[in-house]
Amino acid sequence: MSLIVQKFGGTSVANPERIRAVAKRVAATRAEGHSVAVVVSAMSGETNRLLGLGRAMAGRPLERELDALAATGEQVTSALLAIALADLGVPARSLLGHQVRILTDSAFTKARIKAIDASQLSKTLEQGHVAVIAGFQGIDDDGSITTLGRGGSDTTAVAIAAAIKADACEIYTDVDGVYTADPNVCPSARKIDRISYEEMLELASLGAKVLQIRSVEVAMKYGVPVHVRSSFSDVPGTWVVGEDKSFEAVIVAGVTSDKNETKITVRQLPDEPGIVARMFEPLAAANISVDMIIQNVSADRTTDLTFTVPRTDAQKAREIAEQVAREIGAKGVTSDDDIAKVSIVGLGMRSHAGIASRMFRLLANEGINIEAISTSEIKVSCVIAAKYHELAVRVLHDGFGLGKAP
Ligand code: ASP
Ligand code: MG
Repeated sequence: MSLIVQKFGGTSVANPERIRAVAKRVAATRAEGHSVAVVVSAMSGETNRLLGLGRAMAGRPLERELDALAATGEQVTSALLAIALADLGVPARSLLGHQVRILTDSAFTKARIKAIDASQLSKTLEQGHVAVIAGFQGIDDDGSITTLGRGGSDTTAVAIAAAIKADACEIYTDVDGVYTADPNVCPSARKIDRISYEEMLELASLGAKVLQIRSVEVAMKYGVPVHVRSSFSDVPGTWVVGEDKSFEAVIVAGVTSDKNETKITVRQLPDEPGIVARMFEPLAAANISVDMIIQNVSADRTTDLTFTVPRTDAQKAREIAEQVAREIGAKGVTSDDDIAKVSIVGLGMRSHAGIASRMFRLLANEGINIEAISTSEIKVSCVIAAKYHELAVRVLHDGFGLGKAP
């Protein structure tokens, strides 16, 4: 007998029929002799609907109340699933974030889990009940309801699995796993059977939307094996697990692209100590996270500085850059929205040389110009013109041999 956490996303609980189908799956797992804790999202579209209502009340709704509002979506599905399970003869109890005691900080709309006191949950499971936990929510020290950011039910599920030392955390979703590239862009993309936490973290932060990034961080920290799989079929999905020797053979695990960044260039800044700090300090103070940074070698005591920021922060970032440019006597600031970042990710890069150069050659063969480059131990990213991003993904995917075996 094992202890399993099963998480069902919004599309898996989108309507009463699907909730009944989820109940059947949970019942089947239990019938195999396993103990099950379930975590549910709100019905698909519900969180957006609720937040829309909140915004209809005020231009800048109180974040504490937005969380109280949005958390109701998961309350509904947890109760409905418990009802559906009981109807199948499976004893079940819904538990909200504050009933489990998922303690978070007070950063409303993006709270972090500080601790989970799982004694109530363990009692529920020991009594032979299925626990149906409302995802996405917790409670802070003041007793206020908090939410964990969009996609936060993934993190609830993994954190619960860590707290009760579950044997596995199954994430049921509307795709059947993690792919080597977006199948909508790249027809030869394959489902990955096993991927390491590190690679999944890079892919998630580069825009692969299957798992909330924090859930992968928690899984890695506590060594929770995560199985991402389809709620509409029984085929095995993708296991996200700790690194072992077998991963090194894979040089590139996946290719991804991100069209949500803007490139900002500051021309001819004085090449002196402290100038770059002066540029980035006010950006940091404005809570803008800068991704790539490139500074040219200077010839004439001035230099050009290019960096990328999330598109949603581009306006603010450009204003700040222009202000600083005036203060330090730089020549001017330009920005470009028409960019995409394509990236290759793989643990094997640590031990294989020549991966970046191969990427550059593959792009060059298609006449795609590279505007900026950044690397980490297991990732190479290139900024290119937005119109080439789908072509670039296909060319890199097939060029690194990730396509389907013929
Ligand atoms: N319902 C929340 C959202 O839509 C949390 C989740 O589904 O994971 O973001
Ligand atoms: Mg999700």
